[in-house]
Amino acid sequence: MKVGFVGLGQMGSAMAANLLKAGHEVTVYNRNGAKADPLVKQGARKAASIAEASRGEVVITMLADDNAVSDTVWGNDRLLATLPKGAIHVSMSTISVALSKRLADAHLKAGQRYVAAPVFGRPEAAAAAKLFIVPAGAPEAIAACQPLFDAMGQKTLPMGAVPSAANLIKLSGNFLLAAVIESLGEAIALVGKAGIDRKAYVELLTTTMFPAPAYKIYGNLIAENRFEPAAFAAPLGHKDIRLAMAAAENLRVPMPIASLLNDRFLRLLANGGDKLDWAAVGGLATADAGGLAAGEASGPAINNS
Ligand code: NAP
Repeated sequence: MKVGFVGLGQMGSAMAANLLKAGHEVTVYNRNGAKADPLVKQGARKAASIAEASRGEVVITMLADDNAVSDTVWGNDRLLATLPKGAIHVSMSTISVALSKRLADAHLKAGQRYVAAPVFGRPEAAAAAKLFIVPAGAPEAIAACQPLFDAMGQKTLPMGAVPSAANLIKLSGNFLLAAVIESLGEAIALVGKAGIDRKAYVELLTTTMFPAPAYKIYGNLIAENRFEPAAFAAPLGHKDIRLAMAAAENLRVPMPIASLLNDRFLRLLANGGDKLDWAAVGGLATADAGGLAAGEASGPAINNS
């Protein structure tokens, strides 16, 4: 298929590479143009503007946040003004429910189609084409995009015809992951301070009651205090908690654990955590308990404050 790809960060560059590998004709655009160059070597066409990337059958956006998506979509010569009628915008970034609703309305008015298709999986999963993709939108539009989803993911889990439902599901999933990170951090701090081997403890948990990928991935990162380089940066994780809370406020759903997580992210970010993986939230309990014991693996310091 002829597809444009806008947003070549950690996730987008890996996803665009897999579209190329599957034989799609991919035109790439990124604000910082240098990030397009490795993809050009793999066969992509480099667009000089968002407009140039928005002329195919499908344009995919994989951008940091609501601001980045809004800046890309609205304005002269941006995505909305240039995408052909009938063509599909597949929005794969983790964005707010409110923005997803605005996008659905705007594309409908412009005679274009819109599918929200956020993803679960970190950059390693994106590189291995092992993402879980959660599309919502018109069934024919989702079906038309299936070859693209197949190239980027291991499983597509359609969630109905209302695009913003997929965004709410994604935000609820990241809320749960952050809750797991915080809880694992507290449990690992507890056993670690008692002198029990942190890695052996995670091995025990993940081979018995908690064999899920989230416990394995984050348990090991926390046990080893290994939060750099960031595969999913803490400010993006904080964004997702805030977006989950905004959706919850709108629906009048109290989420006290989300409020707690918001404060944990603020604690991390106020103490220099911007460049760390969001798993570093799971390192806070250890820092609060006096830090790692002598001889334990040490990663970047998380300040006690
Ligand atoms: P990233 O590496 O930080 O990349 C962010 C991308 O957004 C870059 O292409 C960046 O362009 C662009 N961008 C940021 N602000 C912009 C603006 N104002 N205008 C235009 N472009 C802008 O982030 P990522 O990890 O790939 O994440 C991308 C999205 O996927 C986020 O919504 C994230 O929540 C979601 N996600 C991430 C993961 C993960 O594990 N990393 C997993 C699932 C979902 P420049 O290169 O020019 O800065």
